[in-house]
Amino acid sequence: VSFGYQEVSPEEKTRRVGAVFSSVAKKYDVMNDAMSAGLHRVWKDRFVRRVKPRPGEAILDMAGGTGDIAFRMARHGAQVTVSDINQDMLDVGMERAARRGIEGLGWSCQNAEELTFADRSFDAYTIAFGIRNVTRIDAALAEAFRVLRFGGRFFCLEFSTTQWPGFKEAYDAYSHHLVPRLGQMIAGDAESYRYLIESIRRFPPMPRFEQMIREAGFTRTKVEPILGGLVAIHSGWKA
Ligand code: SAM
Repeated sequence: VSFGYQEVSPEEKTRRVGAVFSSVAKKYDVMNDAMSAGLHRVWKDRFVRRVKPRPGEAILDMAGGTGDIAFRMARHGAQVTVSDINQDMLDVGMERAARRGIEGLGWSCQNAEELTFADRSFDAYTIAFGIRNVTRIDAALAEAFRVLRFGGRFFCLEFSTTQWPGFKEAYDAYSHHLVPRLGQMIAGDAESYRYLIESIRRFPPMPRFEQMIREAGFTRTKVEPILGGLVAIHSGWKA
């Protein structure tokens, strides 16, 4: 499997992704604002509007990291479980939740590829900027399908490839040159941000990823490109 520019074993990829997020955990939120000029907030708001969390429903926010998506959904009264493979990211999230007085969230360290939750435990499953870091994406999608109840919704927010000419070139130049420098300046770690950019470039294009979601068993799949597909919201339904 690919880790950035390199080919590594699946175990090695999981280990290295772990190291990336442990390294950036403390600066993760500051870096998101710096790298996207605050835009990630707009994308996350839009994503949560699509999810339409309802009071009392059980939602699994997978690869939930420091809680950005979960906090937004909890505001609507949903019972959110934040789950991530990396305890360092969850620790930062728990501290943030405590600081902001956000209560009622569950926190659970889990690998998206093999969840310990029972079948049909959730009304919705969300994963934001997480799936491209998962080693076996098909396994994660199968697990998402398994833990959703019938009628459950799947939502994924992820970087993709913008189809807008001009913008694409500008973004490529920005991401390859400036992002690792920002990573070095703010988090003292250029290499992790090189990986994060390369993993975006290698992620399957929108129609292919939609196909993978269908192959996991979901129906009524949809793709909503943002900024020409720089970012995309994929969704599906467990019939
Ligand atoms: N969802 C949060 C957000 O939007 O700010 C965090 C996104 S962060 C870019 C990606 C997260 O995916 C990291 O916290 C990382 O630990 C997590 N991750 C990577 N591989 C994973 C896996 N196999 N299972 C669960 N989480 C994983």
